[in-house]
Amino acid sequence: MSRPEPLVDGHGRRIADVRISVTDRCNFRCQYCMPADGLPWLERDQVLSFEEIARLVGVLARIGVHDVRLTGGEPLVRRDFPRLAAMLAAIDEVRDLSLTTNGYLLERDAGALVAAGIDRFNVSVDSLQRDRFFEMTRRDALPQVLRGLEVLAGFPEAHPIKVNAVGLRGFTEDEVLPFARFAREHPYEVRFIEFMPLDADRAWDLAKVLTGEEIRAAIHAVHPLEPAPREPGATARVYHFADGRGKIGFINPVSDPFCADCDRIRLTAEGKLRTCLFSLHETDLRAPLRAGADDAELERLIRTAVWRKELKHRVNEPGFRRPARTMSQIGG
Ligand code: SAM
Ligand code: SF4
Repeated sequence: MSRPEPLVDGHGRRIADVRISVTDRCNFRCQYCMPADGLPWLERDQVLSFEEIARLVGVLARIGVHDVRLTGGEPLVRRDFPRLAAMLAAIDEVRDLSLTTNGYLLERDAGALVAAGIDRFNVSVDSLQRDRFFEMTRRDALPQVLRGLEVLAGFPEAHPIKVNAVGLRGFTEDEVLPFARFAREHPYEVRFIEFMPLDADRAWDLAKVLTGEEIRAAIHAVHPLEPAPREPGATARVYHFADGRGKIGFINPVSDPFCADCDRIRLTAEGKLRTCLFSLHETDLRAPLRAGADDAELERLIRTAVWRKELKHRVNEPGFRRPARTMSQIGG
């Protein structure tokens, strides 16, 4: 059989990574993501079934989208989630299967997720102090999340484990050095992500973004850092502590966008293909899937959408328009 043409966009970028939201629901209400009362959830029949997700991943993986990240909402609130992970891990062309989670259910699920074949884990933690964690997530859940991380860390196959914190001016400054110590003392790579205009409360403004460079400089002043080489398509700028004890990374989509070699697309929980976090257009794959489209037809729809992938996001430009969907409705 001839090798299929790789998936490329109209700017010559090869697409190799898909982020899939498996649910729009969540058990947390992080200030920078969801409103306190939650959002109107999708009806169950609007959400792609495991079989539908696996079908789309199969089509994507055969055209070179070998990296699959599962996210949400909170993926672990989807019933029987490890079964989906196992179905995707069984697809030959899927080379890297990863998960982004708030960690609340990791104590329960870590073993099942590792057994299902998840290779890499990102756990979101915004504060290492219980009361401030509560303030940010609106859930008093830090001890539960830290226990989940410990259970996960007990599985050698789960490493390296990444711990992600959103950088918010007026909040994260006090977290920076504790997180640096955390990264030095535990087998976790801590990464700071700049706050993006995708919060449901629409409170984002540029002044609230604590930049990766500010955080890096504050850490470097106390614990000197040395840059690690950047891999193409990588979202994070990674640094080693100069004394060799651990790593820390910065994802700077606002102050230092990495669109030029972006290799990612996204699939929402109800089957819309998005070519950028900030896309204003999306392509419905659920309707054709449910109407009986064959793989060739699905591939054609995907290629057409990807060809129009945005050159870059325009967060820093005048006239920037936020997408109607927020982070938990897209899948971060
Ligand atoms: N619920 C899971 C979690 O929190 O890890 C997965 C979904 S969550 C939407 C994925 C990531 O997006 C998390 O690391 C979260 O901190 C991040 N995030 C959410 N809203 C954001 C925003 N407005 N700006 C930057 N990152 C955001
Ligand atoms: Fe839920 Fe993750 Fe959004 Fe927090 S960031 S509200 S954990 S989806």
